[in-house]
Amino acid sequence: MSRVYNFSAGPAVLPEEVLKEAADEMLDYRGTGMSVMEMSHRSKPYDTIIKEAEADLRELMNIPDNYKVLFLQGGASQQFAMIPMNLMKNRKAAYILTGQWAKKAYQEGKIYGEAIEVASSADKMFSYIPDCSDLDIPEDVDYVYICENNTIYGTKFKTLPNTKGHTLVADVSSCFLSEPVDVTKYGVIYGGVQKNVGPAGVVIVIIREDLITEDCLPGTPTMLKYKIHADEGSLYNTPPAYGIYICGKVFKWLKKQGGLSAMKEYNEKKAKVLYDFLDESKLFKGTVRKEDRSLMNVPFVTGNEELDAKFIKESKEAGFENLKGHRSVGGMRASIYNAMPIEGVEKLVEFMKAFEEKNAR
Ligand code: PLP
Repeated sequence: MSRVYNFSAGPAVLPEEVLKEAADEMLDYRGTGMSVMEMSHRSKPYDTIIKEAEADLRELMNIPDNYKVLFLQGGASQQFAMIPMNLMKNRKAAYILTGQWAKKAYQEGKIYGEAIEVASSADKMFSYIPDCSDLDIPEDVDYVYICENNTIYGTKFKTLPNTKGHTLVADVSSCFLSEPVDVTKYGVIYGGVQKNVGPAGVVIVIIREDLITEDCLPGTPTMLKYKIHADEGSLYNTPPAYGIYICGKVFKWLKKQGGLSAMKEYNEKKAKVLYDFLDESKLFKGTVRKEDRSLMNVPFVTGNEELDAKFIKESKEAGFENLKGHRSVGGMRASIYNAMPIEGVEKLVEFMKAFEEKNAR
């Protein structure tokens, strides 16, 4: 068996320990004689799996009792619609545009009401996080929306925006469980799990109870109402059962690593290896304003498209996968989620140094 260093932005690298344990349990999950994939979601063993997953997540994130945890389907993109359908009582919401994913959520929001752009970093190709300390937010908006970590551009909110008392809704898909968060600062935190938490097919929504009401926009399908899923403990219909099981294993792995504070420390150390090199390199250059750099997604360029292509080709041959930047921005991007070991980043930097020596002019 040989595993590569996988720098994919998602689906992405998962802890080997988790994958091995799942492989061991594939044919016979703990004496049940079946795989979790083959198991009724209403069975006793599955009830334990989903309840333990929720309890572990609550412990990891210190989620208060007045928040529900929902395991849903439809990816993060489905939340772009579910959020306004469930929360836009005044048909008005403020959006902070820091990249493609925030923009997509904003465009979806416009289908349901007045989505207002209150800040943006589009002027500099989303390479920074705008100042959100004193935004002009209309009094009657239902929520303020952010994408907390911008997977494509590699920026991250280091301080949350001042929402002036309005509910904060955050897409944390690409920074989920990478560091501690204060859940009480948000009305809704959600993320597709396929980056830091598990296999694609599950989206986790953490939502304050008072935001869960019957009163959705007219025409909201039953499946898109938070209340239905909250009332049924994420088992209104068949959930993405196997995916939730893997997420549960990742939660246990995170607890074993020492929880989210330890994860943050490790992620900072790991990202520093790459950022320090980018700052001193004569060939490679990071594309993000220093104070807004993400710990998870690190975009960089050589400034020469041909050289970028050569780097991507040669790095792949050397066992570093998925370093090509997002199709909308080009260049390179190393996604270094929780499960990427620091050795992966150190080896990448060694490779980059050697490439620089051969190719710097
Ligand atoms: N939000 C962010 C920050 C993302 O990075 C992505 C996907 O990469 C999405 C949303 C969309 O996720 P999905 O494909 O699960 O709909």
